[in-house]
Amino acid sequence: MTASILIVEDEESIQLLLTYNLESEGYKVRVTASGEDVAALLDEEPADLVLLDWMLPDISGIEVCRAMRARPKTRNVPVIMLTARGEESERVRGLATGADDYVVKPFSVPELMARIRSILRRSNPEAMKDVLAMGDLSLDRVTRRVMRGPRSVNLSPTEFRLLEYFLTSPGRVYSRTQLLDNVWGRDSDIDERTVDVHVGRLRKAISRGKEPDPIRTVRGMGYSFDERFGMK
Ligand code: CA
Repeated sequence: MTASILIVEDEESIQLLLTYNLESEGYKVRVTASGEDVAALLDEEPADLVLLDWMLPDISGIEVCRAMRARPKTRNVPVIMLTARGEESERVRGLATGADDYVVKPFSVPELMARIRSILRRSNPEAMKDVLAMGDLSLDRVTRRVMRGPRSVNLSPTEFRLLEYFLTSPGRVYSRTQLLDNVWGRDSDIDERTVDVHVGRLRKAISRGKEPDPIRTVRGMGYSFDERFGMK
């Protein structure tokens, strides 16, 4: 799963709890304690889901949710509200009309994870699919198997993640930095040239230098998975 989640929460212990659990399920996670920052963060990079605390130090979660719903760009981004017990959960029901769901703190982590999965499955089936396929290429997230037509493709774990990442958004151009952040992780101290090396290996494994290559090099930008692959 490469869905990306924005956590808007000011309590550090909850930030850590959520980040840890979401990252170990494979989500890409960003965290802010400020409701004011949400619009800018979503402009910078879209999220597939927002976990939104109701009581924030600057503006309330409800206001953040309203503001998100008022902008075409973020109108359809699913929101789960987090609210403290007794913190007017009835009002949350009534007011948080823009939210897709809400949970009361202290919440059960497995339950929250299940709700996140179920919302994402509805809103972003691509990010949650077991099998990603384009043209004669398919990647199975469950069996970790990659096939090109009848041929099985052997990939290293890194190349598998790279291909998985490309296949979740065909056509989208990723810079080397974005690929580093999303495939290797933000904390990796890997050189951008490493990305080129792995893209090269991935290409070789998929195409063996003779079959059509679905990965495009976009000069001065980065790489992209050809959204017309298999359609030509
Ligand atoms: Ca709070």
